[in-house]
Amino acid sequence: MKKIFALILAILMVASLAACGTTTTDTDEAKVYTIVSDNAFAPFESFDSATGEYVGIDMDIMAAVAEDQGFEYNMMNVGFDPALAKVQAGQADAVIAGMTITDERREIFDFSEGYFEDGQVMVVAKDSDIDSLDDLSGKVVATKNGTMGAEYANANKDQYGYTTKAFEGSNEQYQAIINGNCDACFEDYTVIGDAIKNGVELKTVGEKINPSFYGFAVKKGTNPELIEMFNAGLANIKENGKYDEILAKYGM
Ligand code: GLN
Repeated sequence: MKKIFALILAILMVASLAACGTTTTDTDEAKVYTIVSDNAFAPFESFDSATGEYVGIDMDIMAAVAEDQGFEYNMMNVGFDPALAKVQAGQADAVIAGMTITDERREIFDFSEGYFEDGQVMVVAKDSDIDSLDDLSGKVVATKNGTMGAEYANANKDQYGYTTKAFEGSNEQYQAIINGNCDACFEDYTVIGDAIKNGVELKTVGEKINPSFYGFAVKKGTNPELIEMFNAGLANIKENGKYDEILAKYGM
């Protein structure tokens, strides 16, 4: 009887050791990155109610780069300012959200190579006679939290004599202008162009402000391999035509 017990014990020990080994290997191979994005910033990311999925240039570039480099990720479309906050808090590995590369942001983020060039532009109601910053005196400018447009609006408000009103997303600031609660905003050129093309009752005024590149970003000093894979994947999809195909799909 004792012998049988000893034998069973031995078998159990070997079996559990084997299980441990397998588990460790699986964990090493199955790193799934959490990537966060904006939730309403077409043509870069927007919710497609027909499919129940987020679509856009950023979504497709991310998928193409991950496929090229062979890594797994989950995408969470949480909004622009929340996305940046999640990366800074260590609750997400990276952000792709039409995010402009700036020296100020480089202090707290590491960026990939730029993947798209854009800038901001002044936006007013379709029937507005506001023609320049000088016409904003006494007016209210809508801002989107955490963006370059908001930074520009806030930096110029004292000089031009307007106030600002903050919103969480792009659509909220467009709506505030359309319904007359605000008079203008500063939005990314390509994004407002896409909205107007799709029937949003706004118009742009003047030239592109601050032309600069969008980048994929991680919290400074974290996930260096992810930045490397993004850069390598981006170079490959530019080389093999996939990048151009994605831009063309969204009318760029
Ligand atoms: N490109 C702008 C920025 O980085 C806006 C980004 C966004 O609203 N998703 O601030």
